[in-house]
Amino acid sequence: MVEVSRRNMIAGTAAAAVATVNPATISASRAQGAVVAPMTGVYSYKLGDVELIQVYDGSRTFPMPDGFVVNASKEETAKAYQALHMPPGQLTISFSPLVIKSAGKIIAIDTGNGLGANAASKGAVGNARHSMTAASIDPKAVDIVLISHFHGDHINGLKNADGTPAYPNAQILVPATEWAFWTDESNASKANASNKGNFANVKKVFDGLKPTPFEAGKEVAPGITSMATPGHTPGHTSFIVASGGKSLAVQGDVTNHPGVFMPNPGWHAVFDNDGALAEQTRRKFFDMASADKLPVVGYHFPFPSAGYVEKNGNGYRLVQVHALT
Ligand SMILES: [Zn+2]
Repeated sequence: MVEVSRRNMIAGTAAAAVATVNPATISASRAQGAVVAPMTGVYSYKLGDVELIQVYDGSRTFPMPDGFVVNASKEETAKAYQALHMPPGQLTISFSPLVIKSAGKIIAIDTGNGLGANAASKGAVGNARHSMTAASIDPKAVDIVLISHFHGDHINGLKNADGTPAYPNAQILVPATEWAFWTDESNASKANASNKGNFANVKKVFDGLKPTPFEAGKEVAPGITSMATPGHTPGHTSFIVASGGKSLAVQGDVTNHPGVFMPNPGWHAVFDNDGALAEQTRRKFFDMASADKLPVVGYHFPFPSAGYVEKNGNGYRLVQVHALT
């Protein structure tokens, strides 16, 4: 009988979450100060006739900044993160784009931090393309890229490290409200402090690309409908995927870490450009998801980034998926 030690069990859990990691290569590379071997994670499942593939982009851990939650104290906020067993005073944010195979098309929803950030972060983030390779998805074969909103962690992966298009044959579809807002720098007065710098990045990322704006409430790809979920940014958009009588919601950044912001839906993260509107959207979206027992995919949910939302006291909780079938 194989003895299962606690250490093995922990290693096993990590291996399940991150599908393709070679620890030997990572430690060797770190010792030499070289770029770390790609950290990839792939989680695929079916919804009716549609295949969904989460492609892990990585995570960032950093000290809790002042004012991270603008309407809660730093102590209270730090306590909520520490309750998730994060190191005291630190927080981790993870990133997971989604690839959908529907009606013969390959569709990506958001793109991760990009290969430029992959090199700069020594492999901590920007791994979505490596995860796609692990899932045998060729970026040249991607037909459509759908963007939820224009923050860098969602759009920077539209470009390679050298600035060339990462998905050269894809139609890039962006929310019309988001496009109108971020491409007009006179809107900087309507952006809060953490969003003011975003105009320059939007200009850089979309330079040389030809995105097509779409409206909310429309079928934007086979079986995928856009839904306006504003507040985080003015044109922030979620998507409903439907196939074979089943539905699933892709929430983008309706909430950041579900372990912190679902029990505290009234907390306004510093990234939310309009905190009050983001909260209104969040409550409406989670009331819908819990009433309809709709599986929800979240870009910043811990990998594999999908679960069910339940009402819990004055807030909500995420029941992470074990398997979606
Ligand atoms: Zn984000």
